[in-house]
Amino acid sequence: MRKQHGPDLTRKAKPISRCVTCHGRGVTKGVFYEMECSSCNGEGWTDKVTGLPLESEDARFQLNAYTLRLEQQIAHLQRTQTHHQENNRRGPGGSHRTGD
Ligand SMILES: [Zn+2]
Repeated sequence: MRKQHGPDLTRKAKPISRCVTCHGRGVTKGVFYEMECSSCNGEGWTDKVTGLPLESEDARFQLNAYTLRLEQQIAHLQRTQTHHQENNRRGPGGSHRTGD
């Protein structure tokens, strides 16, 4: 039996944005109950360029790619922040030492 496994090489990460209709919640408030948002098919995300819902097949891939980008940004921020704090600790420290 042949299993299709591994990444689909034709897939590319594309810009996605939070659905503006449901604010990324995937549901909109109906009169009596919440309904699946029709602008994003309940995904909470749309294609940033076309504004259309992501295809459910593609949505998982796009969200994963998006999450990866966010994680990289967070890691980068944490690195720079730590660096910054270390610099402060090791700084010249002359500002509030008036040396009496
Ligand atoms: Zn929506």
